[in-house]
Amino acid sequence: MSRGFYIGRFQPYHNGHQSVLERIARSADEIVIGVGSAQLSHTVENPFTAGERVLMLTRSLENLECPFYVIPIEDIQRNALWVAHVRSMTPPFDTVYSSNPLVMQLFAEAGMEVQSPDMYERLTHSGTAIRQRMLDGEPWEYLVPPAVVDVIREIHGVERLQRIAGSD
Ligand code: ATP
Ligand code: MG
Repeated sequence: MSRGFYIGRFQPYHNGHQSVLERIARSADEIVIGVGSAQLSHTVENPFTAGERVLMLTRSLENLECPFYVIPIEDIQRNALWVAHVRSMTPPFDTVYSSNPLVMQLFAEAGMEVQSPDMYERLTHSGTAIRQRMLDGEPWEYLVPPAVVDVIREIHGVERLQRIAGSD
């Protein structure tokens, strides 16, 4: 049984993430997905709650032919202890899939196998670019799975982001 681990903040979950997870699903038997910075929401960089992000992921991956677990993970302010913190919250996994240099380094130091998936149209498919589009009132819907569009509509996510970015 090989269980893969993938972590992101998913602010929001987008087609780049989806493409990586579909690739992981072809080689792993199960996937553990960590929703990082779970305690953060209602900020310009982290507009959505952990629960809202769980909804985005779970609905978008409904047809994935690989069992998966979505686990919110709060930040701890000690990188040296972070891998143990993650493992304390997740089902056991053997392979880490990440292109984030810090995540790769911390898991490698813990002796875990780390694979770095290729990026999918990274320039447009980035959380930062998508949040900027939402703020600017530009189209963003084509960059995320349809289920994410539904969740963000349901929670009035774009209006939330625009309000919290405003000045008093
Ligand atoms: P932000 O700009 O807010 O940091 P992000 O797009 O980098 O958002 P994260 O939630 O930080 O998204 O990323 C989670 C993981 O997904 C990271 O390992 C990141 O490298 C990876 N990732 C992000 N965008 C893509 C993409 N377009 N293709 C493949 N992997 C991606
Ligand atoms: Mg990022």
